[in-house]
Amino acid sequence: RSKTEGRSTYRFFEAAMGEEVRDRRILEHDLRHAIANGEMSIAYQPQTHLGSNEVTGFEALLRWKHPARGDMSPAIFIPIAEESGAILAIGEWVMRTACHEAASWGRPLKIAINVSALQLNSPDFVSLVREILDQAKLDPSRLELEITESVLIRDPDRALQTLTLLKAIGVSIAMDDFGTGYSSLSNLRNFPFDKIKIDRSFVRSIDVNMPAAAIVRAVLGLGRGLGLPVIAEGVETSGELAFLNAEGCKEAQGYLFGRPAPIEVFRAVTHVEAVA
Ligand code: C2E
Ligand code: MG
Ligand code: MG
Ligand code: MG
Repeated sequence: RSKTEGRSTYRFFEAAMGEEVRDRRILEHDLRHAIANGEMSIAYQPQTHLGSNEVTGFEALLRWKHPARGDMSPAIFIPIAEESGAILAIGEWVMRTACHEAASWGRPLKIAINVSALQLNSPDFVSLVREILDQAKLDPSRLELEITESVLIRDPDRALQTLTLLKAIGVSIAMDDFGTGYSSLSNLRNFPFDKIKIDRSFVRSIDVNMPAAAIVRAVLGLGRGLGLPVIAEGVETSGELAFLNAEGCKEAQGYLFGRPAPIEVFRAVTHVEAVA
């Protein structure tokens, strides 16, 4: 390899890096104005009781329509919002909007809302949740906060204190994406979770994939042993559903029952049949 080639490779790399950093800066900036500009919305995805097909609640999933780039995936913009701190204002908007929405339903369904580490660890989080519930006139028992285990890592004592306070006001806590990332079984013992959400990477192809099936079966057993309800996320096929039914899973969420959509789509929906 010649010297010039090496240099041009380096220059190319440097330019690409610069572009990536610049891109991120722009998105950080755009994120700070996204709510005021009316670019954010919430999609709702039904959670279903498998025995009765009854809808038990909805998960609120943030959507961002960027003025130039169109629909952006939360998998891309949530991490940026977390790093820049914008998640505090955005997360508050999600909670306020979704709680007001849920209060208007006229039936006592749950509203599940994803919460980032920065939010949960912010000093006024519990009073903010209380204020939002009061203002929306939403019974705290209808709010379920979904947190991933990564939220517990940095300051477990503080997380435990916050979760305990949230439970004291009647809010419930679900462990999201169980089985991925920092999973440790002791988290289930040490923190006051009310529900386990099996990550969709395990649900995918449980009916044909041996390791995934063994893991899902084990998590369902764990839930039974601990007296914690388990919900399977990402259920897409009737084969996956048949497996979950056979293994005694009581609740599910996934494209098979309904894709995340504007709430209008679900306003009159009380039961969802699996549609393969
Ligand atoms: P999550 O909380 O685990 O949400 C489930 C994700 O799985 C959602 O992706 C949902 O659209 C997707 N999903 C549901 N059913 C199926 C299925 O059958 N098949 C497949 N392939 N996917 C399915 P989404 O909406 O792109 O959100 C991605 C992640 O972004 C969420 O994962 C959550 O961690 C985060 N997120 C979304 N909204 C918020 C929010 O308001 N606040 C925070 N902090 N994070 C959020
Ligand atoms: Mg979630
Ligand atoms: Mg999840
Ligand atoms: Mg997930």
